[in-house]
Amino acid sequence: MIIIAGAGHTQSEKYLFDEDKHCFHCNNTSRWILQKTRHFITLFFLPVAPYKTEYTLYCPICGNSVKLDKEKYDQMKRAGSQAFK
Ligand SMILES: [Zn+2]
Repeated sequence: MIIIAGAGHTQSEKYLFDEDKHCFHCNNTSRWILQKTRHFITLFFLPVAPYKTEYTLYCPICGNSVKLDKEKYDQMKRAGSQAFK
């Protein structure tokens, strides 16, 4: 029996952060995006279990990002962010 396992699947949630933030990379000030990305182990190309979660805040103009820990992410999300597609 052949088992095809992998780890390429990701799922993400995005929120528009409720405060303007300056980006030192592109020199623009805008509302940054909070993103939670879950990486999954796949079995026969179906996601079965998450093995890593990343929390980032990124500039929507140039994509410059900063990594956050879960506490900081939750705190910023609670502080007032809207779901973003
Ligand atoms: Zn930027």
